[in-house]
Amino acid sequence: MSQPAKLSDLSKNPSTSGTIPSAPVEPVLDQLFQALLDKFERTHPGEDSSPLTAAYQLALRMHAGQKRQSGEPYLVHPLEVAHILADMTTDRTCLVTGILHDVVEDTGVTIEEVRKQFGDDVAACVDGVTKLAKLKFYSREERQAESVRKMLLAMVKDIRVVLVKLADRLHNMRTLGALPRDRQERIAQETLEIYAPIAHRLGMGKVRAELEDLGFQYTDPQAFGEILDAIESKRKANQGLLDEIRSAVEVKLRREDIPARIEARLKRPYSIWQKLKRQKISIDQVYDLLAVRIITDSVKNCYAALGTLHGDWHPIPGRIKDFIAIPRPNLYQSLHTSVIGPGGQPFEVQIRTEEMHRIAEDGIAAHWKYKEGHKHAMADEQQIAWLRQLVEWQREMHDPGEFMSTLKVDLYPEEVYTFTPKGKVIVLPREATPIDFAYAIHTEVGNLCVGAKVNGRIVPLKYTLKNGDVVDILTQSGHLPSKDWLSIAKTSKARNKIKAVINTTERAKAVEIGEKYLEKEARRLGVQWKKVTREQVLSVANEYGFPKMEDLHAALGYGKFSARQVLIKLAPEQVEAYDRASAPAEPAPTVIRDDDNKDLVIKVKGIDDVMVYRAKCCNPIRGEQIVGYITRGKGVAVHAVNCTNVQNLMYEVERKIVVEWVRTTDDTFAVRLTAYADDRPGILSHLTSVVFHEGSNIKALEAQPDEQRADGSAIITMLLDVKDKKQLERVVAAIRRISGIRDVERVN
Ligand code: MN
Repeated sequence: MSQPAKLSDLSKNPSTSGTIPSAPVEPVLDQLFQALLDKFERTHPGEDSSPLTAAYQLALRMHAGQKRQSGEPYLVHPLEVAHILADMTTDRTCLVTGILHDVVEDTGVTIEEVRKQFGDDVAACVDGVTKLAKLKFYSREERQAESVRKMLLAMVKDIRVVLVKLADRLHNMRTLGALPRDRQERIAQETLEIYAPIAHRLGMGKVRAELEDLGFQYTDPQAFGEILDAIESKRKANQGLLDEIRSAVEVKLRREDIPARIEARLKRPYSIWQKLKRQKISIDQVYDLLAVRIITDSVKNCYAALGTLHGDWHPIPGRIKDFIAIPRPNLYQSLHTSVIGPGGQPFEVQIRTEEMHRIAEDGIAAHWKYKEGHKHAMADEQQIAWLRQLVEWQREMHDPGEFMSTLKVDLYPEEVYTFTPKGKVIVLPREATPIDFAYAIHTEVGNLCVGAKVNGRIVPLKYTLKNGDVVDILTQSGHLPSKDWLSIAKTSKARNKIKAVINTTERAKAVEIGEKYLEKEARRLGVQWKKVTREQVLSVANEYGFPKMEDLHAALGYGKFSARQVLIKLAPEQVEAYDRASAPAEPAPTVIRDDDNKDLVIKVKGIDDVMVYRAKCCNPIRGEQIVGYITRGKGVAVHAVNCTNVQNLMYEVERKIVVEWVRTTDDTFAVRLTAYADDRPGILSHLTSVVFHEGSNIKALEAQPDEQRADGSAIITMLLDVKDKKQLERVVAAIRRISGIRDVERVN
């Protein structure tokens, strides 16, 4: 692994001495620039390099006197960034941007001046990089989510902004050593969480690897050191073996006339570390620490090489992956296998063509066919499609934490390859479920999904899909996704679509509740509702800033403000007349449905068919005094009048609503009782027979020694089904009469 060049450090530290030094040109700068020019002329023969020289001269002038903390001239940094870009063989605009990337932020140069001298493309790129650098956020999550968002937007505008930003970050990471420890940690963490994944997603394997290893080094120096030591001792121990494997591979390929370049290496620290963490093993148990890369001339020879190796060395089942036939979403292509080599030593093999190798190393930068003046002339439509999709998703998402967590799934695509019954490949992140699969096919398929068959067998929706699964989604028209799907779905696409449906249905409910709430309150306050016109209500809605009446109803249903506030605007005299009149009369009740829409258990005054549920805090049962409370968007909660929460909730008097029990006969209510009993033989059987005798039913029963008394007393907890309050009272009285029972109480 390459050690960070000891150049300087991140922070811009302009010289603060009173006089501006005449800034003699440091030879190190001229050398760096000359080397850059040479690289450019080698990789872009015949292209005009004068903009590079102009950029250098401008930067030299503007950054004059500025130093990094190490004391080096500041300009070393932009020049090194340009070098990184030149090594990726990006275009001239990228290199010029690299040299100028800090002039707007750190010196007096304006974007307009850059535009005048270097044209629109360079100006747009410098502007993009400057804006990315300026982001400041308060929370860590916010910072991350926002900078990723900005990055994505910048990428869609011009991918070169991101290439420069990645090069900038890479050089900063290489020179991180000079910063104080806490800044090192923060920057390294951010690198692992944001920049390395983006490099990965853009297929830039080389940059990603270096960012990861440096990020690892600074986030967990101790673990990094240990792994580095372990690798070093493995290298010493295995050098002979590596040579042996390499020459054995060479011999085999030569025998078959397969031209190839062979690299034998040890895995890099971060990927070993990930593996140790993921599989909870020690480094001695990593069996594919040794890796061989075969780079050949054609796809045909890739497969031929694979065949040759498998012919002589036994492949490890489940380790053969054909990323040539099915490239990864970041366009990575290779054949992967692990074989048992000489002396029973397992090792990993990657086989690819030169072209695939270039793409694996430089990713989107390798696809670069950018011609000056042709905006968005991107070779790689697939990459851009992915970016656009991400940007679309992030627009729908408002919670930064949520955005980050779904983004991480998409950025670390440890994919599974699944198939439709017709054989179409659907690539999903690891841990994806049939719901993700359904939404990957089509939003409608996702919404209507009621089940799935994998390889011909019905599986639960939370089933984890595996490579090669053939998935058949079962649908039913009219079906809608439920909230618990959010914990099952892993892809951001599925989660966003599910949320969209849930929000729509919740809003519809809120509109319904709000409308009825308004009518009911109108009646209670004596407002002649029939005489209120739609136009009047609409104008009040507009007054609140809502374009439509439904929006006003939704706001009422969500509990954003009270119906009374609206009614005062609609019919001020009538509401005032009501207030002057005697004590507020309770409205007369009507029927509402129970939570699951099955049995009519509770009715509410003035409203039909609205969601009602029994509050969990007091779990009221038939016969008890109850009161309703309009919740924010979840319907009407019904509490027992003596519930302690009621006092707290009811200070908003407008949201109180009258409810009553419906007289049906068969429904029962679950009630939990705790009995305190002396240690007497047969007390449990006595208890169960008493409950049974009263016509109730025990659903669960548990007896435990009373730890506080420690005299053989027991605490008995039971779950009963009762029809109503009267039956419960009879049961409780009967239990109290059992000799040996000291007390019994209801618990919620
Ligand atoms: Mn910079």
